[in-house]
Amino acid sequence: MATLDVKDIRFEKVAQTKEKTPEDKLGFGAVYTDHMLLIDWDDQEGWHDPRIVPYGPFSLDPATAVFHYGQAIFEGMKAYNENGKILLFRPDCNFERLNISADRLSLPDLDPEFALASLKKLLEIEKSWVPSSAGTSLYIRPFMFSTEKTLAVHTAKTVTYGVILSPSGAYFSSDLAPTKIYVEEEYVRAVRGGMGYAKTAGNYAGSYKGQDKAAALGYAQTLWLDGVERKYIEEVGAMNIFFKINGTYVTPALNGSILPGITRRSVIQLLEEAGETVEERHVSIEELLGGIEDGSVEEIFGTGTAAVVTPVGELAYRDKKYVVNDFKTGPGARNIYDRLTAIQLGKEEGPQGWSVEVCKV
Ligand SMILES: *Cc1c(COP(=O)(O)O)cnc(C)c1O
Repeated sequence: MATLDVKDIRFEKVAQTKEKTPEDKLGFGAVYTDHMLLIDWDDQEGWHDPRIVPYGPFSLDPATAVFHYGQAIFEGMKAYNENGKILLFRPDCNFERLNISADRLSLPDLDPEFALASLKKLLEIEKSWVPSSAGTSLYIRPFMFSTEKTLAVHTAKTVTYGVILSPSGAYFSSDLAPTKIYVEEEYVRAVRGGMGYAKTAGNYAGSYKGQDKAAALGYAQTLWLDGVERKYIEEVGAMNIFFKINGTYVTPALNGSILPGITRRSVIQLLEEAGETVEERHVSIEELLGGIEDGSVEEIFGTGTAAVVTPVGELAYRDKKYVVNDFKTGPGARNIYDRLTAIQLGKEEGPQGWSVEVCKV
């Protein structure tokens, strides 16, 4: 099968560029840029016909397998515009994880170098869409799904990979404001041996039930417990979770059912480089609630690309509420947020290769 080369990417330019939403009116996932990247795959030719074309709807047969059997994965990353420089944060990690998800969902592997080179090409074309005011970014959504027209149950013989771009405001209305989360005991997000470690559509489909329940009770997010004993903490919505317990940072160990966040991995490394102790281990809900009550749990915060670092100010478990750090943003969350965002925006030097410049506006 032929290897892909960026110079083979076909470019079909829009006739007219769309009007841009003012940066202070950007929400999350509401606005999309002029163009998208698409690449097709089939079991005969492999990946072929890479193209950057006007953003627009797909036409798919109602019997397309993805509608019925959910063979779909995605990634989430951001491009920043800092003083006219377009920057990515650890994009190699996203394309490495895309292939881990692809493997779990029996989708084809995509060369990570080509994935990054083709994303850079799309970003060069769309660079005027990267917002520059504080807290804004261009949210990047790579995704891959089965396009095969069949109701037969088997691995896709035809697949499409795409990248769409969405100028976005801050994920939550105010950065670093504490959020309230609801500990879900009835439903679970994932089990070991399942797809929890893959970034797949189905994990989200299964999570709305818990999310709606939390929302109805006035909670912004769901805290998921392990799928077997419903005892150990896994993660929150689309974030991994950290606890500061007696001065030590603790986060649930990756166990196959937790999504291995790139923000999580980065936060662990930055905390360790700053001389902090980080433990990756089991944390039971009893340990956590007991620690909130006796004051040993000093802070809780979530980490993820979309929400960056989000302090948790209150937990609800069964009928009881547990307030953390007086519902205030603690110094641990503040410091790691400041360090991480400074590296993402190229204002501070981070570990080698974390901040990747794409082009200048
Ligand atoms: C994407 C995601 C995260 C966060 O991962 P990052 O790489 O840090 O953005 C956490 N949990 C779930 C379920 C996710 O889908």
